[in-house]
Amino acid sequence: MSGVGISAPRLLLRKLHQVMAGHGDAEQRLSEIVHLIANNMIAEVCSCYLRRAGDVLELFATQGLKPSAVHQTRLRFGEGLVGDIAARARPLNLSDAQSHPQFAYRPETGEEEYHSLLGTPILRGGRVIGVLVVQNRTRRTYTDEEVEALQTVAMVVAELVSSEQMIAAIEFSDAAGNATLPHHINGRVLAEGLGAGAALLHEPRIEVIRTIAEDRAKELHRLEAAISAMQSTVDKLLVATDTLFSDESKDIFEAYKMFAYDKGWLKKLQEAVKTGLTAEAAIKRVQDDTRARMKEITDPYLRERLSELDDLANRLYLHLDGRTLIDRRNLEQDTVVVARNMGAAELLDYDRRRLKAVILEEGTRSSHVAIVARALGVPVVGQCADILENVEQGDLLLVDGEHGQVFLRPGEDVQQAFARSQQQRAQREAKYAALRDKPNMSLDGVPLSLNVNAGLLIDIDHFPDLGADGIGLFRTELQFMVRSQMPKVDQQTELYSRVLEKMGASPVVFRTLDIGGDKLLPYLKTRAEENPALGWRAIRIGLDRPALLRSQLRALVRAGAGRDISIMFPMIAEVSEFMEAKAILNKEIERAGQRANGLPKSIQVGTMIEVPSIIWQLPHLLGEVDFISVGSNDLMQFFFAVDRGNPKVTDRYDSLSPSLLLLLRTIAEHCEVAGKPFSICGDIAGRPLEAMALLGLGYRNFSMSAETLGRVKEMALSADIGRLENFVRGLCHSRDRSVRDQLRAFAQDHGIII
Ligand code: PEP
Ligand code: MG
Repeated sequence: MSGVGISAPRLLLRKLHQVMAGHGDAEQRLSEIVHLIANNMIAEVCSCYLRRAGDVLELFATQGLKPSAVHQTRLRFGEGLVGDIAARARPLNLSDAQSHPQFAYRPETGEEEYHSLLGTPILRGGRVIGVLVVQNRTRRTYTDEEVEALQTVAMVVAELVSSEQMIAAIEFSDAAGNATLPHHINGRVLAEGLGAGAALLHEPRIEVIRTIAEDRAKELHRLEAAISAMQSTVDKLLVATDTLFSDESKDIFEAYKMFAYDKGWLKKLQEAVKTGLTAEAAIKRVQDDTRARMKEITDPYLRERLSELDDLANRLYLHLDGRTLIDRRNLEQDTVVVARNMGAAELLDYDRRRLKAVILEEGTRSSHVAIVARALGVPVVGQCADILENVEQGDLLLVDGEHGQVFLRPGEDVQQAFARSQQQRAQREAKYAALRDKPNMSLDGVPLSLNVNAGLLIDIDHFPDLGADGIGLFRTELQFMVRSQMPKVDQQTELYSRVLEKMGASPVVFRTLDIGGDKLLPYLKTRAEENPALGWRAIRIGLDRPALLRSQLRALVRAGAGRDISIMFPMIAEVSEFMEAKAILNKEIERAGQRANGLPKSIQVGTMIEVPSIIWQLPHLLGEVDFISVGSNDLMQFFFAVDRGNPKVTDRYDSLSPSLLLLLRTIAEHCEVAGKPFSICGDIAGRPLEAMALLGLGYRNFSMSAETLGRVKEMALSADIGRLENFVRGLCHSRDRSVRDQLRAFAQDHGIII
């Protein structure tokens, strides 16, 4: 197999094309194909393994191995070299395959005489549907051109394997016969709410009809034309976005535009055409590669970037075949968008009136798309395995973003039940809206402060509709996360000023950057950590990189000129950390005092209580701070030693366990003694039963996600705190795992609505 040059694949492609267009059954054609590949690539062996149900790879055709091994040799995904190629979805190039630790000897194949091996996955829509392998007797490393050539050929094989006739022969897809049956998929709630509509595939499925180019120059020209059409669409998108959205969204679009002009990506496309593929096939080739890489990459930022490239490839396809892009801004019917994953920019691209929900195969609660969806009020269910393999464009989808369930092509009974849930939710919302103007106080007249957590400008726009007292936690990192570059002091100042201006007399507590852990900034490169939640994050970054913290505090102090402003620091573990952070703030205040703009009328400085160690220093801390706020999400994570992002353990310990309640009471007691204001802003503040327990523990100030405010207010209006206090404080000393049942029974007996 010496030197398969650039032109060789072209020749091979032509011959393959003839086989594809010829007659004979699919398996016969596959045999012809492996024969052709072996001859053309001067390899002694060429074998094709296809995926069958249960993730088994079966030898379907071979030139060079013993013919009797066909349909006999089977390997599981991950087993042997072939299984390894499939599991990793990456090519493998070995000069001595038998010395590789993954090598699994199969005597029935007679492959012991062959030393070098080059294998590549056969991909369809990013899914591995088989493996194509060539082998040689001599020990040699295959050239890059040869690897590319085999990958290209694998595409043609994918085309054959995906033909209906072949699918029938292979039955490789478990879902093949299920295309019209109702289907129920469990996922995770990424954004709450209920939504129903017709499925719209975010990445339209594109069938490449012609793989091999008849006229290379013409194909190159078609590709160039599609690229410039795609680029100008993206440019227009950016102009349109300018007037529609806030800075944070514009920034996302800017990053998207950068990719549309990315030289490396465009060059890859052109090179694929130069090997003899049609423009469509070239895009598919590069896209398959991107998708396979996406499967391997765990870094959330890189994954989002790759998904942007994937989206751009789809746009290119549509420009090529003259189809107009589905006008995402003007959808014709209620729509549920289904995607493997998507960037926040792409979500903003859809018509908000018609977009009822989003379903993702991947996605996490902290991904940008989930953050923006929550701000827009679009329900999202993520981590829905294989939804894309089962859904067809236009299928009816019901998305239950309360329980993390998706119903595909549901029967009449499920549709009716879902409609009832929607009605109930609407009634609940109407009921909460009616409570909006009632004063926030308990049944026995104890005044309460009910606030919301926020972080995007869209949150501020919705604020007046909520009936909240203020923003108890402004997560400033969200503004940093949705940008492609670190915002400068001026940009930050403008943003915080806008927030303060829009909020008027309603208070806002700005939390300084809480990055690290699962909140990554694209432009702040940090080393991978074994335990990121316990690692370099939040105030630790702020103190180690004071320039970052300083610039944010400068912006906050400037934005607060002439106003009252509250600032708090996250993840404080010791008093000394607070003192250090406060010293930086004091310098900024001093600096602002020397400038003409003026100082804030008042500055309240506080900390989050998230790390248990600080609780033993509360008497000292409370002497220094103006207020504290309990971040129960992280506090629980560290208190119970459970990763808050790991579904295997997150529910292991109950938020209504006596030990946690006692801890929360201890914090409240310290604050009461010191006479310092305290609040709670973790997730539990937004859950009615937990919030009821918190009332009993002495908490009067809550900050929660906006959609939970109505429920908590309804509970508080019906609760007699005087009665609650004795009961809940008694439960703190229980030996039970959880006191949830006792609290529920109390609520029922005392007419508290939970
Ligand atoms: C918390 O930890 O409870 C909290 C409110 O902060 P975040 O969820 O942003 O970490
Ligand atoms: Mg936290």
